[in-house]
Amino acid sequence: MNQIHHFLDGQSVTGHSERFAPVYNPATGEQAAQVALASADDTRTAIASAHAAFPAWSKTTPLKRARIMFKFKALVEAHADELATLISQEHGKVFSDAKGELTRGLEVVEFACGIPHLQKGQHSLDVGTGIDSFSLMQPLGVCAGISPFNFPAMVPMWMFPIALACGNTFVMKPSEKDPSTPLRLAELLTEAGLPDGVFNVVNGDKEAVDVLLSDERVQAVSFVGSTPIAEYIYATASSHGKRVQALGGAKNHMVIMPDADLDQAVDALMGAAYGSAGERCMAISVAVPVGEETARRLREKLVAKLDGLRVGPGLNDGPDNDMGPLVTREHLEKVRGYIDIGVEEGAELVVDGRQTQVPGADGGFFIGGTLFDHVKPGMRIHSEEIFGPVLSIARAASFDDAVAMINDHEFGNGTAIFTRDGDAARQFCEQIQVGMVGVNVPIPVPMAFYSFGGWKRSLFGPLHVHGQDGVRFYTRMKTVTQRWPSGIRSETNQFTMPTH
Ligand code: NAD
Repeated sequence: MNQIHHFLDGQSVTGHSERFAPVYNPATGEQAAQVALASADDTRTAIASAHAAFPAWSKTTPLKRARIMFKFKALVEAHADELATLISQEHGKVFSDAKGELTRGLEVVEFACGIPHLQKGQHSLDVGTGIDSFSLMQPLGVCAGISPFNFPAMVPMWMFPIALACGNTFVMKPSEKDPSTPLRLAELLTEAGLPDGVFNVVNGDKEAVDVLLSDERVQAVSFVGSTPIAEYIYATASSHGKRVQALGGAKNHMVIMPDADLDQAVDALMGAAYGSAGERCMAISVAVPVGEETARRLREKLVAKLDGLRVGPGLNDGPDNDMGPLVTREHLEKVRGYIDIGVEEGAELVVDGRQTQVPGADGGFFIGGTLFDHVKPGMRIHSEEIFGPVLSIARAASFDDAVAMINDHEFGNGTAIFTRDGDAARQFCEQIQVGMVGVNVPIPVPMAFYSFGGWKRSLFGPLHVHGQDGVRFYTRMKTVTQRWPSGIRSETNQFTMPTH
């Protein structure tokens, strides 16, 4: 059985733990490997390696650090097909989605290449007589990243490029469900010239995470995952005095106004709800048509489109499928369970993805696109995150009702409105209690030079990821006030410059 280990101090390391977790190929359902689950000692070794590398790395000039990021970007591009294959093999998503994930991650690397410009402090002359003030944005030290299964390349790339470019060293703890891609990224960073120990990967579970949250050498923790764990990470790491950003779960609504271009809205919904099998924190899982006629037409068009949704392996010889399998059998059972719950709660099951057959892929963790109608706030399929290809139609009588439905929800990650009415769009952007908003854009993921993050129970901590917030998160500001009284010069400096 193929074994997956850790990457410490510039090389692949086996570690000392005897605990392992299975890694599956979701398209076949077969176990493809087992991943070592780091012991507390293994994790402390990774932290020690990052801690030892910090003094030299933080003194490396910003330009040299940026140049390593430039080389890393070129290497990821050169290995994009290999990396996308790795992602698809362990996560299940289709090849084009895996390539797309890499592209979005690379945009953060590109942003990190420009960090010398963003890490500049400010300077004021003569804030008092003979007094100047200036600020420095210094790196923190060892930072830790803990990532979810659904973006094994992109989410780590939200974190470490900015942390490293700012002069920090890093310990990454990827999801144990698809651990291979971050290890390959670590090798490419080394190939790009990153000194040993600056970036380390420990594979593991709660045992490794708890060390990262409490070890005094770790200064900051970035987490992305489900809300209960995000809340735990935020509370625990904060209680140990660490800076924390913890991004959690989501339930994203898309409002469709009566005047919307319905074909455009339906195309957008198909990708946003069923792309990557709904395993995206920015997936749209609730469509909110305003008015009965909008709902009727929307439902009719969605049903027709769902009929043509191609479900199958993420890697295949022909054209890409629209949707691959879910990540594990356990997750498949959870999603199937939510469909049962929706039926019990009285929602109308319009299209049942449990019936979808994928020829030749019997053991894979497949489920087809599913559509519920007449879903109402208060139902568990509306209040809880399903994280699968299940779209609910929750009808709203008016724009105000739609806004209230979204604002009353526990989560506030992403949302969208489809309309031709500029005033409705403007009101929506202003009133909605959600961190990322799209107008005629279904998945409004901000570009790398803006920041990504939700509101309410989708984010714990004040700073979002990447963009300006990312630079602020991974640096500590120091303000210097200095006084050099004029006219007083030390004895040794009382000389005349030679004139030749
Ligand atoms: P998860 O919370 O189960 O796991 C995330 C990470 O936490 C993994 O590395 C895992 O090993 C670790 N972990 C799990 N249980 C732990 C525990 N008890 N103590 C300490 N660490 C623990 O999430 P997942 O299932 O891998 O990912 C899906 C979730 O991530 C969804 O809820 C999704 O919405 C969310 N997500 C959010 C964003 C965002 O930007 N807000 C982005 C991607 C995914």
